[in-house]
Amino acid sequence: MTIPPINPGRLLADLHALRGFGAYESGAHRLTFSREDIDSRRWLADRMREGGLLAEIDGIGNVIGRGPGPGPHLLLGSHTDTQPHAGWLDGALGVLCGLEIARSRHEADLPGNVDVASWADEEETWGDFPGSRSFIGDLDEAGIDAMANRYDGRPLRAALAAAGLAGRPRASLQPGRYRGYLEAHIEQGEELEAKGLKLGIVTAIVGLWQYRIVVEGVQNHAGTTRMAVRRDAGLAAIKLAAAIDRRFPDLAGPRTVWTLGRLEFFPGAPSVIPGRAEMVFQFRDTDPAVLERLEGGLRELVAEADDGPCKVRLETMGRTTPQPMDASLAAALEQAAERLAPGRHQRMPSGAGHDAQQLARVMPAAMLFVPSIGGISHHWAENTADADIVLGCQVLAAAVADLLAA
Ligand SMILES: [Zn+2]
Repeated sequence: MTIPPINPGRLLADLHALRGFGAYESGAHRLTFSREDIDSRRWLADRMREGGLLAEIDGIGNVIGRGPGPGPHLLLGSHTDTQPHAGWLDGALGVLCGLEIARSRHEADLPGNVDVASWADEEETWGDFPGSRSFIGDLDEAGIDAMANRYDGRPLRAALAAAGLAGRPRASLQPGRYRGYLEAHIEQGEELEAKGLKLGIVTAIVGLWQYRIVVEGVQNHAGTTRMAVRRDAGLAAIKLAAAIDRRFPDLAGPRTVWTLGRLEFFPGAPSVIPGRAEMVFQFRDTDPAVLERLEGGLRELVAEADDGPCKVRLETMGRTTPQPMDASLAAALEQAAERLAPGRHQRMPSGAGHDAQQLARVMPAAMLFVPSIGGISHHWAENTADADIVLGCQVLAAAVADLLAA
């Protein structure tokens, strides 16, 4: 099997050029539909055209470059927006690897076609995967009307109009066009690096179940209220959090993660016994049975806490379904990884959400991870060794070749 050539220097130069849009420290601050983000989308569409693709920015901000020739077709992509003050690679890696593969195949006149997409707003500045959900037909006009900027409340419609995208058609999936969707991404964790591995083949994207836990007690004077008669919502919340952390290891799978990301006391004054406490708690796993078991355990612990001096209730905020990746696409990635980096790859779940979980609802989809130095992501220090970026792109290119030839 010959490995199709990519141009590593050109790939890295493009990544560095994209980094220049909203450069912040050693990373990038490129929130969806900011000036920098719009400029970067126009730049990307131009780079796609120079690479021989038919490129457009659609009505929700997706940048899509289509290969001009006959099929078979594969779709490659990720996202180029960022979190605030974030890293330069994140989804940019997958988009520009896709572009590099599409144009190097075009230059070499190889059969088959690669389309490339940068999905709008994966980082949820405005909503829940608006770009990739629009493409698969899971976002209607009312859904767009309902989206607003999470930082300043501006309606998405206003941002689309300001970006010159209002009234443009939204790209949608042409049924039967693709053999599948492949997304390269940085790992955003430390596992590959810790194990000395170069590539992760994603088996599934976790489901994320999130809850608000509200504890109601009685607000009173911290000096005059005897301990025996207190109904301290703050203390009850902390005891419950500790009980969850003690119980969960028995209910969890080997890769389950759980996080108490927010804890607030009301009124939050040093000399006032908290009358109310609120926590936001989440857990993630790829196995629906594990998620159900964890929720059952959580409900039991909340009920036990509710028998104490305070009232405790659980509100479900969200429960996403774990999304398995396609076995045959994952196998193609694994075979390519074994050819180019024998023994230096592993199968692993993705603990983070990605556009691939949306695409996987309508076509075979798979993901490839490259190592994150120090496991850092969503921070400007995020980085990956150049050699690992290039290797990731070569593995993706080899898998693409196999899948288009099959
Ligand atoms: Zn990302």
